[in-house]
Amino acid sequence: SSASEEKTVFGGLSDEDRIFTNLYGKHDPFIKGALARGDWYKTKELVQMGPDWIVEEMKASGLRGRGGAGFPSGLKWSFMPKVSDGRPSYLVVNADESEPGTCKDREIMRQDPHKLIEGCLIAGTAMRARAGYIYIRGEYYAERKALEQALKEAYDRGFLGKNACGSGKDFDLVVHYGAGAYICGEETALIESLEGKTGKPRLKPPFPAGVGLFGCPTTVTNVETVAVAPTILRRGADWFASFGRPNNRGTKLFCISGHVNKPCTVEEEMSISLRELIEKHCGGVRGGWDNLLAVIPGGSSTPLLPKSICDDVLMDFDALKSSGSGLGTAAVIVMDKSTDVVDAIARLSYFYKHESCGQCTPCREGTGWLYKMMQRMQTGDARVEEIDQLWELTKQIEGHTICALGDAAAWPVQGLIRHMRPELEKRINAYSADAANKAKEIAK
Ligand code: SF4
Repeated sequence: SSASEEKTVFGGLSDEDRIFTNLYGKHDPFIKGALARGDWYKTKELVQMGPDWIVEEMKASGLRGRGGAGFPSGLKWSFMPKVSDGRPSYLVVNADESEPGTCKDREIMRQDPHKLIEGCLIAGTAMRARAGYIYIRGEYYAERKALEQALKEAYDRGFLGKNACGSGKDFDLVVHYGAGAYICGEETALIESLEGKTGKPRLKPPFPAGVGLFGCPTTVTNVETVAVAPTILRRGADWFASFGRPNNRGTKLFCISGHVNKPCTVEEEMSISLRELIEKHCGGVRGGWDNLLAVIPGGSSTPLLPKSICDDVLMDFDALKSSGSGLGTAAVIVMDKSTDVVDAIARLSYFYKHESCGQCTPCREGTGWLYKMMQRMQTGDARVEEIDQLWELTKQIEGHTICALGDAAAWPVQGLIRHMRPELEKRINAYSADAANKAKEIAK
């Protein structure tokens, strides 16, 4: 709306405009509580409005995918075939939340599973899908149990299955467990895994909307994206689009961890400032804002931002991108001045090396090499020129791999070099000075 476009200050979302978190921990997550909160209210009518109407509403809401890439959701859903060539279409929900720092989808599955299940019926309708799969991270035991209980409740009430909600549409939903591989959160690896194969990403094209699960048209979409859909349709696309800046609309779950006084997952207005998010909901940075060193704003794949940028950056796709990072999964990892930032990034390099599926050379070899060089940076047992070599190595990985894991391994190291180069040089110089002193002692 024009009024919202004039907004310059974001945040301060009221409880009544929260889709999720305002009641967490205080309410019944299951069917009685869900019905009392308005879930499954007139779902039949929403489904009967049909796929085109749902897609248009989603487009009008401005929702961008909440799994990290931020692709416009309505547009993505519209890529599914409108006329079947005989193959069924599938909805796949990516509940494999494994990006370090990210713990938002698990809150939805634990605390509000009916929103996700109802969202699957809505999204499945928009995609003309006959069935949906929720692929849930293997470690998410409590979430899985909650989801399965809610699924049973939905079937028992006739909300799913044949003639779902009395709408005339048949829709089945299956919960499938992953086995703890980070790479299975990549959409084509997830599809392979669902098919019973090793989770290795596929080359694209073909894209899943053409050839996906079991060779059929498929759209893989994030838990939060699907779970907000029923509320958007009930309250209206304009309501959702009244939050945030143009191109960065809606409310958003943020999960904040690290050196804050009260780590939490909270729903806020998109485009809230990073500082307000931390000070309002997390009791501030440990030791105060001036004790902040850096923040990883969107999960481990997004480059860190030093305090100088954190002072006034907004938490949305475009603002973080132009600051040299990204919104990613909105998993904010806060590091105060006590952090050994080189150790922290080296730990992430180890993670990506460990999780690489190994099928393409720049990632398989590059992530191991990155970690080895990062270990040299940790101790300082390196030459200053190696910082440039490390940078070059990230550039050889970035953009040269089948899936985004290669980029995800490269970006945190790039962020470290871009913003913390003096720290790397200091370590290297200290190490060589120390070595020279030791050599002198020995010579004596
Ligand atoms: Fe596998 Fe890495 Fe290649 Fe992705 S980039 S397909 S994880 S080897």
